[in-house]
Amino acid sequence: MERLGTFGASRYTISDLQLFRDADTPAVADGLASCPVVRLPQGDQLQDSVRARLYIVLAGALGVAAETAMGEATIDRIAPGESVGEQSVLDEAANLTTMTALEDTELLVIDPDALWNLVEQNNAVARNLLRLLSFRIRAANALLRRRQKLGEFYRQLSLNDGLTGLYNRAWLADMLPKLVARARHDGTPLSLVMIDLDHFKRFNDSHGHITGDHALGTAAEVVRAALRPSDFAVRYGGEEMMAILPNTALPAALIVAERLCQNMREAVVFPDMRFPLPHVTGSFGLASLAPGQDENALIAAADAALYRAKAAGRDRICT
Ligand code: GH3
Ligand code: MG
Ligand code: MG
Repeated sequence: MERLGTFGASRYTISDLQLFRDADTPAVADGLASCPVVRLPQGDQLQDSVRARLYIVLAGALGVAAETAMGEATIDRIAPGESVGEQSVLDEAANLTTMTALEDTELLVIDPDALWNLVEQNNAVARNLLRLLSFRIRAANALLRRRQKLGEFYRQLSLNDGLTGLYNRAWLADMLPKLVARARHDGTPLSLVMIDLDHFKRFNDSHGHITGDHALGTAAEVVRAALRPSDFAVRYGGEEMMAILPNTALPAALIVAERLCQNMREAVVFPDMRFPLPHVTGSFGLASLAPGQDENALIAAADAALYRAKAAGRDRICT
């Protein structure tokens, strides 16, 4: 870092500097008289972990390590007139960010005593400093919000099945025990419908796997559309789905399952009428939470009922 002399004698205009905008220029010039201007050759890092100081870029550009909402490291470019380090000066914490000269850069270095004197003697400096801090806080908040949204997005992604958009097994493993515990605690009924598409291997073999995927999407949409907002639709495995019906006892669940079964039978798999495809049917196993049952026992009961529906000829519901 090469010293160039004092700011007072330099060619920079005080009013060009963000922090001193609208300030009383002669008074500021007095306050800055003892502040050094240093030159930082391109690529050099500013070493300042000992004492917090404020830096104002007079020429060139300073790169400050930052982080995006994606967690990537990026460089914020501090251009002439802008400053860095004001927060560390105010709270006297060392500035630990890495600052690198992106070009040959000239910096005005203001130590805490000089800055506080300027603030005390100049309302405009205080106002500019507050405005700058407010801007920094706003930017930090925006970054946090973006990061939060992104986290929520990935959470959604990890709990939903990519093909059907239904909840996936990870969601089920997390949520079913909670739903069972809640039903037990509140003494409310909980029903579960296990769904398996009929002869789906044959469907794939006849029409191809891609059309099979399409039919699976249609079937998932049938399930989703037939449920109430308080119910949950899960893709359990390949062509197996599950409807979870909180607060629903067996008779009401049976009505839901019948609606599912009929809607499935009537659903148009492929909207292009030039290539009519057979309708897909499903078999449905229905069970309601019995006293003493845990989530695995409930799934096993619905699975056993599903097996009976298959054995009885498919396209039907068994309890
Ligand atoms: P059943 O009536 O006894 O249920 O007969 P099925 O052929 O449906 O039963 P099985 O379990 O033997 O076969 C399920 C088939 O579902 C196997 C596979 O070809 C198909 N399948 C599973 N997951 C997917 C998927 O994601 N996409 C497609 N296209 N097919 C799938
Ligand atoms: Mg199956
Ligand atoms: Mg099947």
